Amino acid sequence: MKTPHFAIIGAGTAGLATAILLAREGNQVTIFEQVDELSPVGAGLLLQPAGLAVFEHIGVLDQALKLGAKVTGLEGQLPNKRLLVNSHYHQAGNNLYGLGIHRATLCHVLTEKLAEYSSHVTWEMGHNIVSIEERHNEVRILGSFKQQKIDDCFDAILIANGARSQLRPKAWVKIDKSYPWGAAWTIVPECLSLNPEILHQFYDRSKIMMGVLPTGAVPTAPQQQLSSVFWSLPTSQLQSFLKDESAKQQWLKQVSDRWPDVAEWLKQIVYDEQIQPEWLSAQYRDVVMSQFGQGRIGVIGDAAHAMSPQLGQGANMALLDAWAFSQSLQTAKKNQQIDWSILWQHYHQQRRSSTQFYQFLSRLLTPLYQSDHWWAGGIRDLTFPWMYQIPYFRKEMAITISGLKKGPLQQMSYQQIAEYQHHENRLITNNQSLPECE
Ligand SMILES: Cc1cc2nc3c(=O)[nH]c(=O)nc-3n(C[C@H](O)[C@H](O)[C@H](O)COP(=O)(O)OP(=O)(O)OC[C@H]3O[C@@H](n4cnc5c(N)ncnc54)[C@H](O)[C@@H]3O)c2cc1C
Repeated sequence: MKTPHFAIIGAGTAGLATAILLAREGNQVTIFEQVDELSPVGAGLLLQPAGLAVFEHIGVLDQALKLGAKVTGLEGQLPNKRLLVNSHYHQAGNNLYGLGIHRATLCHVLTEKLAEYSSHVTWEMGHNIVSIEERHNEVRILGSFKQQKIDDCFDAILIANGARSQLRPKAWVKIDKSYPWGAAWTIVPECLSLNPEILHQFYDRSKIMMGVLPTGAVPTAPQQQLSSVFWSLPTSQLQSFLKDESAKQQWLKQVSDRWPDVAEWLKQIVYDEQIQPEWLSAQYRDVVMSQFGQGRIGVIGDAAHAMSPQLGQGANMALLDAWAFSQSLQTAKKNQQIDWSILWQHYHQQRRSSTQFYQFLSRLLTPLYQSDHWWAGGIRDLTFPWMYQIPYFRKEMAITISGLKKGPLQQMSYQQIAEYQHHENRLITNNQSLPECE
């Protein structure tokens, strides 16, 4: 069989992880990325055990652990100090944990790994892809690079260009809309007054939500531990957040009326001349698709299933997509051919019910934390403590947060995802220089 040549559009978590797995299996991969240099912007994120199982499978877990911050659980506090959310990974399974990680670190560990397979990888940076067409035995890509047209053909294409993708086939899209709420976020030196192994959240009704996430370090400053701070807001208020002195004071008062210890830490940060935290805004989309692939075209990561980050699953789902695609490809390779219908049948078996489960839950829960409904926070504050009293729900909650749910009653196994059997026909590696994250 001629070595299959895949195009991957987008060098985010989904695109990079898939490129590693395809290249490791001896496939040729070309990555098209619209920006000239990878300099990932964004708040730190929490990789759940499911995502870390994929990291182990890929062979980057040890590297990620060197810079990331181990997280043992999630605690969400009300103003009266009562814990509304109190989930710990050990409740889902022994030895499970999460990892708070800076986006630059995530990108760094993935591009470093990809460099090991560089003879199988072509980078096309600064390439903006605008359309794709499936033909009889190939897929055509059209786009631009420095005002010049690109027109190229590949055996198959994976669309991994994020939540705002315009490339996903329109006929597969059931929902594609933005959320009315988002978050202002910043990354600052580690918060020493809170337990550094916990993702801390703070809620008051559904209008106030704040998060402090241990974020580990970046490769360029490995000694400095960081925290990400999130403050939830309606999207219309994101641009004006903390724009002047009175806005800063008002915000700090809002926090200190409810959580004085955290407010004290935030006050030091906001007024620290050296830190001067830059607040950026994040907006979310809700994307639901009827299928993720057909023939020689597939959609993975946020492009396939963007959702609010309330459950902290986006990057994990992107990593699970990468893992499932490479497993499905191996299953579909028969008699020197790839049977694309078998590939997508297998992929949908692996990913459809899990994705549906998390998207349903995210759409159900997000308004309980981010909405103007007067009743939403009340319902949440009544039901959650009751659920945590029941061991079955406590465990289910922890498994859900771990990213290991395959559906309401099914669960994936960490070990099964993490396992990697080295096949003989895999390629010999070759170290060439590749784009590195700034
Ligand atoms: C505030 C916030 C907090 C979050 N917290 C968490 C968390 O705690 N845990 C978690 O798991 N997830 C979290 N997420 C979600 C997570 O960040 C995303 O789900 C994940 O990054 C998606 O990866 P991706 O590769 O699909 O897309 P992206 O990372 O968006 O990558 C897409 C890439 O495609 C490129 N591209 C776009 N269009 C084109 C084009 N036309 N041609 C070529 N290239 C193109 C882009 O430049 C980009 O590099 C959070 C998200 C937000 C906003």
